[in-house]
Amino acid sequence: MPDGSRQSPSSPATAADVAPAIAAVLEAQREHFVAGKTLPRHAREEALRAFLASVQKHEPHIIDALHEDMHRSSTEAYLSEVGYVTGEIRNAIKSVGKWMRPKKMFSPLAAAPSRSMLVSQPLGSTLIVGPWNYPVQLALAPLVGAVAAGNVCVVKPSELAPASSAVVKAIIDEAFDPEWVAAVEGGIETSQALLEHRWDHIFFTGGTEVGRIYAKAGAEHLSRVTLELGGKSPTIVTASADLDVAAKRIAWGKWFNTGQTCIAPDYILAQRSIRDELVEKIGKAATGFYGEDPQQSPDYGRIINDRHFARVAGLIDEAKVAYGGKTDAADRYISPTVMTEVTLSDKVMGEEIFGPLLPVLDFESLEEVVETIGKNPNPLALYLFTTTAAEEQLILDRVSFGGGCINNTLLHFSDHKLPFGGVGSSGLGAYHGHHSFEAFSHKKGVLKTANFLDPSVKYPPYDDTKRRILRKLVH
Ligand code: NAD
Repeated sequence: MPDGSRQSPSSPATAADVAPAIAAVLEAQREHFVAGKTLPRHAREEALRAFLASVQKHEPHIIDALHEDMHRSSTEAYLSEVGYVTGEIRNAIKSVGKWMRPKKMFSPLAAAPSRSMLVSQPLGSTLIVGPWNYPVQLALAPLVGAVAAGNVCVVKPSELAPASSAVVKAIIDEAFDPEWVAAVEGGIETSQALLEHRWDHIFFTGGTEVGRIYAKAGAEHLSRVTLELGGKSPTIVTASADLDVAAKRIAWGKWFNTGQTCIAPDYILAQRSIRDELVEKIGKAATGFYGEDPQQSPDYGRIINDRHFARVAGLIDEAKVAYGGKTDAADRYISPTVMTEVTLSDKVMGEEIFGPLLPVLDFESLEEVVETIGKNPNPLALYLFTTTAAEEQLILDRVSFGGGCINNTLLHFSDHKLPFGGVGSSGLGAYHGHHSFEAFSHKKGVLKTANFLDPSVKYPPYDDTKRRILRKLVH
């Protein structure tokens, strides 16, 4: 079905239709927040437990919806959506008490007798807007942080994955009172209607160009924003790499969710001496994963809609296909595809691919790699395959990227302890685990002074002795 027309049945048709409902939800949520209902630790833990139970209950519906929206395999759906979100919620239930506790520290001598502390304060009304590619995870994982940090929240899942959007709404409706968390379904008009309001924090995941709209909306109301955006993520393979392992890990990371992953390896930079061997091994790995005809594999997905199918298929240069290259528009199928002899001026290098094409460029020295990556905007992820400490150090020191792996792909995302986010054009801010709690909190710096002592040295009138002491205390 054409892009944008796959609205869920419950999606309101126009911004005018949804505006009054949005205003009512926001007002009820503000009252709930101001009354302090989201603050107590037990209330947050209880809400998170209800959230966990609702996600668990809807596991089969999530898996069915992802299959309907993009033919996602049930294993991938569990790993990247259900399991990821339940892991985040469990971690938050276990840790929220610790995260909420004020962090005490010593105060400077000049302020004696005092103690300083950092107090985490929820921001208030928050908005989460999600994309279609991991439509459940990317709507619900940020919500874990929003609730743990004590905020009220409106979640707008992507209209381009309508079956998943409906399940996200069902999960939220069942787990939360709408004055605490509400799901609002709909398309761009609904998103625009939401942005008419003032939010204390906007958490947006999506494309870089749309991200600018959210940054501007945040600027308009001086709202805080987190922007989780996209970009071209390079995968560097040097001659020192273990090519058998590299090929499998690259093939897995590239064709997970049919390449429709924000942190998928977008293109490969292979050292010239090992390029052909690497390409051959990646092809073999793909055949091993999905068989001779990946269209028949239950583990290989489809492109989300006709518009994206046409865009991705249009990036294939048949003369440069070294593996795959098959398409079927009626089924929105594009096979795992590797292209070689690619240069920066090829169409496939002009935009984020966000599909199953893997262009391979080659290099002689890592200096060339630094230069090539620098010609594209800041990558969200970077993967380096090497067994040489000096090569690892050079890339870590010289290349700016959101996060990544050495000798692996995608898996930095799965570590709750690591902040996940971009840099520059690939994003602003980070989340996951404790970092999600931080993303949705303001840190109040508070200094508390005891009354038993009130040294007069800081009070006027000042003389030479006081001045000498004060200079020593503050320098
Ligand atoms: P998108 O930017 O088109 O849409 C994301 C959300 O923004 C949707 O909910 C949509 O309703 C809303 N939106 C779209 N146009 C809008 C407008 N004009 N005004 C207001 N709201 C609008 O992104 P997408 O196509 O759903 O997702 C793909 C992009 O997201 C890719 O670039 C990918 O790299 C990026 N992405 C990033 C991450 C990350 O964690 N950094 C994760 C997934 C996807």
